Amino acid sequence: MTHVLIVGASLAGLTTAESLRAQGFDGRITLLGAERHSPYSRPVLSKQVLSGEWEAAPIRGRAELTGLGVTFRFGRRATGLDLRRREVVVGHERLAYDELVIATGAVARHPFPASQTLRTIEDAHRLRGRIARADRIAIIGAGVLGSEVASAARAAGCAVTLIARGEGVSVGTLGLRLSARVAGLLRENGVELRTRARVVGVDASGVHLADGATVDASVVVSAVGCTPAVGWLRGSGLEIADGVVCDANGRAADGIHAVGDVAAWTDPADGRPRRVEHQQTAILQAQAVARAVATGAACPPIEPFFWTTLFGTRILVHGTVHPDAELQVIAGDDDGDRFVLAARREGRVEALVGWNMAREFRMARADLLRAEGSLV
Ligand SMILES: Cc1cc2nc3c(=O)[nH]c(=O)nc-3n(C[C@H](O)[C@H](O)[C@H](O)COP(=O)(O)OP(=O)(O)OC[C@H]3O[C@@H](n4cnc5c(N)ncnc54)[C@H](O)[C@@H]3O)c2cc1C
Repeated sequence: MTHVLIVGASLAGLTTAESLRAQGFDGRITLLGAERHSPYSRPVLSKQVLSGEWEAAPIRGRAELTGLGVTFRFGRRATGLDLRRREVVVGHERLAYDELVIATGAVARHPFPASQTLRTIEDAHRLRGRIARADRIAIIGAGVLGSEVASAARAAGCAVTLIARGEGVSVGTLGLRLSARVAGLLRENGVELRTRARVVGVDASGVHLADGATVDASVVVSAVGCTPAVGWLRGSGLEIADGVVCDANGRAADGIHAVGDVAAWTDPADGRPRRVEHQQTAILQAQAVARAVATGAACPPIEPFFWTTLFGTRILVHGTVHPDAELQVIAGDDDGDRFVLAARREGRVEALVGWNMAREFRMARADLLRAEGSLV
């Protein structure tokens, strides 16, 4: 009986297991994960969990997990891969596989030990407690995560300084022009933005900058990106760059696929491997790989998609807004705070941005994906 071993028991790993069953795969599935918890969703950690609105919760209940007929091994970390013998090393143990799916995600960069990062449930609980007791907080890194932490900390009544290395806020695939609107949103809500600032150290007094200034803060958060969790694969013979290098169908080697934040799938548009740290991409890649393992089907293109909520403003982005794209309003009014924009280059819509118009955005996105034959 075919044995699929999935390493990494979070969103991408669990979705792979569920999708294998949905595709009719009736072989053995083992889901191995380093965390002790059953899989939980991370996006809520920097939003509802940090603000105290919700508690973090498992993605699936106990009965649903049991119903999958999967062997769960939580609290176990893979330490190596033996490609020749088709075995994953877990400390002193070896687990044989017929098909391996690598779903080990990413870990937060942590350049300043006196600061805190946000990736896990434990991080979120610790940071929530610290924000509740703090009056001043500094955040290093002005991307999506830094902006979300700023939003939660302002809601808790803290004075917040957001420290950007570049010219301003840079919200992933939203591009710099529209990220400037996010910077406006942060400033309107009382966040102090320090741009072109290089951090040289963090200690109990706050953040020290290269120009000699100190940003006073009792809590400092590093939100400076992630690195793929590939340490256990080094020396295995798999190609590792910024993530596990895969073809456009997520295949890394014979009998091995990678999905989610750890995976660098080759982008059919330019032939380069690229990692995408978005929840929806993790889900679509996991579904595609499950289909490939169960039926051998190839994967249609997957466009990046992410959302965030900052100070109550819901921002949704499909695709990538390039600097030279022409922006066209397709719903609402971009002089106000409710609109949907299409970003075009050479007549082709490459990206959609929704600003407080989730329903209209979703309709436009569904039309676009249908027209392109992509995965929804
Ligand atoms: C705070 C936060 C907010 C976010 N908000 C958004 C958002 O608003 N929108 C959005 O689209 N995306 C968001 N993301 C990104 C999204 O959560 C990720 O894209 C998604 O979690 C990727 O899932 P994954 O399963 O690939 O990786 P992960 O969720 O990182 O899971 C990987 C799992 O593998 C385990 N693991 C690692 N190494 C090993 C090993 N050697 N052996 C066994 N197990 C191992 C890890 O412990 C972990 O449980 C956010 C992420 C964070 C951290």
